[in-house]
Amino acid sequence: MIIDGKKEAEIIRGEVKKEILELRSKISKIPSLTVILVGDFAPSKIYVKNKEKSAKEVGINSEIIRYPKDVSESKILSKIDELNKNDDISGILVQLPLPKQISKEKIIKAIHPTKDVDGFNPINVGNLSSGYKSIVPCTPLGCLLLIKKIEKNLSGKHAVIIGRSNLNGKPMAQLLLKENCTVTIVHSKTKNLQNECLKADILVVAVGVPNLVKKNWVKDNVIIIDVGINKVGEKIIGDVNFEELKDKVKAITPVPGGVGPMTIACLLKNTLKCFKARQL
Ligand code: NAP
Repeated sequence: MIIDGKKEAEIIRGEVKKEILELRSKISKIPSLTVILVGDFAPSKIYVKNKEKSAKEVGINSEIIRYPKDVSESKILSKIDELNKNDDISGILVQLPLPKQISKEKIIKAIHPTKDVDGFNPINVGNLSSGYKSIVPCTPLGCLLLIKKIEKNLSGKHAVIIGRSNLNGKPMAQLLLKENCTVTIVHSKTKNLQNECLKADILVVAVGVPNLVKKNWVKDNVIIIDVGINKVGEKIIGDVNFEELKDKVKAITPVPGGVGPMTIACLLKNTLKCFKARQL
């Protein structure tokens, strides 16, 4: 089965839109997302535009604040402080990567945890790993929702995650642990990656290496979620050799059209969650 991330994302966007409409009839405020974009890195410009467009489509007020690539760290920090204090702003997102003069760590820590729609602030990370209520990073949240569309009860499943980034691998592991999976995280220093992957009932791949996972790396009936986005020539492909694997697996996400649309849908979901926590 090929998992249709576009369709699932559309369902989530529809649910968010419906809930915002219902809220508008009860309270006068609407959710609002502010995105800070530093510099002119072409992919970031596209991501930010897509986020703004998708937010507006579901009834979220959205604003992009743009800075030149040589802007000072203190200028961004003082803007975040201003946005933190503004009760009309539900969510703040600083598009990564940032130029060298700006500390990613300082920026992530500066965003108030209740407005941290990306779920990267250490308070949210800590809450997630403690099993408490938290804002969950958008991409792993989207991956989990796709996995649960295929398999409702994940208890006892062996999940293998390739990649240990704060953005993807680590929060994915926490989410799958919470679902009672046995979780293995593998990375660039892991010995015999293939052997580890062969144990997987669920394989999440978030690496950034085209076609890393091959047919003989997985057992039959595995669920594969391919987070990777790699530009090869004019094509965008994932970290998994889709053509080799699509007939062997229980379910697999394509690239594009798998995880990508879910990431934006979950950003809208997180913005609504932040808004409700503040206003209701
Ligand atoms: P990252 O921060 O670069 O992390 C990559 C991880 O992969 C690291 O843990 C690294 O190991 C591991 N790795 C690298 N080469 C490996 C290899 N040959 N074998 C095993 N592990 C290897 O990347 P990221 O931010 O998590 O993103 C991963 C991919 O997802 C990228 O292609 C990115 O563009 C894509 N992405 C997609 C979405 C979406 O919405 N679909 C969202 C975010 C990111 P070490 O820790 O040992 O270095």
